Amino acid sequence: MSQTVEGSSRQTATASETLIEVENLKKYYGDSGLLAEPPVKAVDDVSFDIKRGETFGLVGESGSGKSTLGRTLLQLETATEGTVSFAGTDITELQGKDLKEWRRNAQMVFQDPESSLNDRMTVGEIIREPLEAHNWGNKKERRERVMDLLSEVGLQEEHYFRYPHQFSGGQRQRIGIARSLALEPEFVVLDEPVSALDVSVQAKIITLLEDLQEEFDLTYLFIAHDLSVVRHICDRVAVMYLGKIMELGETESLYENPENPYTRALLSAIPRPDPTATRARITLPGTPPSPRDPPKGCQFSTRCPAKIYPAEYDDLPNEVWDGLERFREIVRERSRLSLSTKDRVARQLGMFSKYDDIDEAVNDFFGDIDVPSDVDEHIDAAVEMIKDGHPGDAREYLLDEFGSICDHERPAFTSVGDDRQSYCHRHVDDYEDVDTVLDRRVYGE
Ligand code: ADP
Ligand code: MG
Repeated sequence: MSQTVEGSSRQTATASETLIEVENLKKYYGDSGLLAEPPVKAVDDVSFDIKRGETFGLVGESGSGKSTLGRTLLQLETATEGTVSFAGTDITELQGKDLKEWRRNAQMVFQDPESSLNDRMTVGEIIREPLEAHNWGNKKERRERVMDLLSEVGLQEEHYFRYPHQFSGGQRQRIGIARSLALEPEFVVLDEPVSALDVSVQAKIITLLEDLQEEFDLTYLFIAHDLSVVRHICDRVAVMYLGKIMELGETESLYENPENPYTRALLSAIPRPDPTATRARITLPGTPPSPRDPPKGCQFSTRCPAKIYPAEYDDLPNEVWDGLERFREIVRERSRLSLSTKDRVARQLGMFSKYDDIDEAVNDFFGDIDVPSDVDEHIDAAVEMIKDGHPGDAREYLLDEFGSICDHERPAFTSVGDDRQSYCHRHVDDYEDVDTVLDRRVYGE
């Protein structure tokens, strides 16, 4: 949002000062016990920084780890690994009184103003609560502070004694914003602050957030699942998929010229104002893998339209590759399910009939297309392993035969221009670049 005050002294003085520095941050859930299921890798090794005064956007589909990342930055969750520095202090090390004191600096606004406000407290009590928790001022000062905050967010003094349920969604979000600003934080995580609101109300809340940012020199992490919301308010954007930042960069440059295949796919789904400029939409096949069992290589490798194929199979037609990837997805799912006791019980109860008919799945994927005989033999071999009750072996077999660097190795977060980074093997080594591959595979040029 500091773009809107371009040229002002604040912009020039603070543009490059780092406020938050995140290094190799991981947040895993349920990482305990020998017999437990594998942990959910909600945030899986991300590094980036947020500059003072900027609005940093974090976008990605539901479940990609955005809220977890936001909460971990605020130490509402304990990081599994990695560091978060705030103005030079590693806050993952803070405890007790120091942590409480630091918390004044960093606040969160939640998506759902329905459930995030306590309906049994008056608006005045809700906004006053953080002031009381931190022994801010005396009773009279706190009351005055709340009155000021009400007016800052466009509410009236008489709202002090009302209850949240008496307000509309937009007004409730104003209450949440007032509360988050009570202790004069420097940094605010806005977790989908307008996703639950009508479009007309969204615009008003966004304007309010921009005004408050300018008035109080705030730094924002703005989380959204919708790329179009973020474009107009963020200075830089990070795109997340399955716990990983796939691409990061200055907003306009990233939207105009996305480098990562995942960003490409997301952006292709947004209608463009100029219909002649519209490229075909990239429809992502399959479903995101479980964050308990993410791909060993690139997180996006199971659905990537620009995936690198092993040289000996590079000339297989698209539809054969699509079939192979979907077949591997099913095999992977089955090998995963066969690991957990709970799922084994469900299997005995006959709840997996859909996946148990492997012949039918193979027929769905390959029945109507020409499959070269060597590929066909490998599919048959894998099917036999599954029927023998060894889906894990089938998974390994298919990985050996059809896997590539994208399945085996995590890409590097590679610099792809001014302040732009992207997580993709195609940016390094001598593979064809993303453009060329998408032109051929997706657009048939
Ligand atoms: P997003 O905000 O992008 O929708 P989240 O950060 O809420 O994603 O969730 C990321 C992943 O972590 C999801 O698979 C979710 O189910 C899981 N997750 C989130 N919170 C918890 C939790 N407290 N315990 C276990 N798993 C969680
Ligand atoms: Mg979320």
